[in-house]
Amino acid sequence: MNDTRKTFCLFLLAALTAASVVPARSQRRTGPPREPKLEELPRRPVDTIATSDPETRVIIYSNNTWEYYRPTLERQWGELPVYRNNWDTASVFSYRSIELGDLPAVIELKLIDSLDQFCCPVQGKVLSKYGPRRRRSHNGVDIPLKTGEPVRTAFDGKVRYARYNTGGFGYLVIVRHANGLETWHAHLSKLNVEVGDYVKTGQVIGYIGSTGRAYGPHLHFEVRYCDQAFDPEFLFDFEKGMLRYQIFALEHSYFNIQSRASELLEEDDPEQDIANMLLAGADDSTAIRAAQPKSAAASGGPVYHIVKKGDILGRIAPRYGTTIARICQLNGIDRNSTLRLGQRLRVK
Ligand SMILES: [Zn+2]
Repeated sequence: MNDTRKTFCLFLLAALTAASVVPARSQRRTGPPREPKLEELPRRPVDTIATSDPETRVIIYSNNTWEYYRPTLERQWGELPVYRNNWDTASVFSYRSIELGDLPAVIELKLIDSLDQFCCPVQGKVLSKYGPRRRRSHNGVDIPLKTGEPVRTAFDGKVRYARYNTGGFGYLVIVRHANGLETWHAHLSKLNVEVGDYVKTGQVIGYIGSTGRAYGPHLHFEVRYCDQAFDPEFLFDFEKGMLRYQIFALEHSYFNIQSRASELLEEDDPEQDIANMLLAGADDSTAIRAAQPKSAAASGGPVYHIVKKGDILGRIAPRYGTTIARICQLNGIDRNSTLRLGQRLRVK
């Protein structure tokens, strides 16, 4: 093939290729327009709506999405009463004026939302559970890990205690969170925070060790409310590294050392369990508490609400950051339907 023919052939090939590409392109252009996805639409804030929490607003965007908005959060953290009142940095206990009997029957703990996220402090198998242990109580869980592995804060908060504790905890970090919950991390080999530090979810606060009364490197982890401990496994699945609830109803009875999550969360059919417990003479709140869904919040799976006395859709919907219309749609009911006590409503 001489050079002229070669050039001609290449030209022909190029022309044919171009010809075959152009119609396809123009065809694509004239075809039906693809429906844009919600998240691809331009997003600008169009409105904010007040919520029951004066610090929090819901911000509505032009593409029909929304999220929580706390304009003053960062600025006012230091001024939140929870980070000022009953604030003792020298002792592990700091609510001396509040007795167990002073606490309400149910404390509603908001754990996460679109602004406040969760990170499991460590991930691993619980070797020693919360509960009675010989003559004393084991007020937390023990998770064996290697010395030097990082320990993270589960939620945003402020460090209330960070020092060596001679009572057996060894190096101990206590973080207080905005909802009043405190998380205790004991036997650390090294601290990574100081008293008064504000910490963000997932921040490393210290490292695994075996300081204090410890039989080997492990994390002794406690959750406390007003100094009172309850089983951390109510809130966290340490093995999966997951949070069990977005909002947790902390019952007064959970502060009993015999109230172990592993025994109270073992059920698969919440409705049947409520029925059984009511038949067995348990009061409503005990039955409802036991029927809280497992792992729903963190897994993104369906979330259920068990109807309590006085519940109306208008109050349930904002609590879960959803709408009456959406709850009606999920449950095939209309907004005027009468809610039954103990009825399980899907809210997400
Ligand atoms: Zn322990």
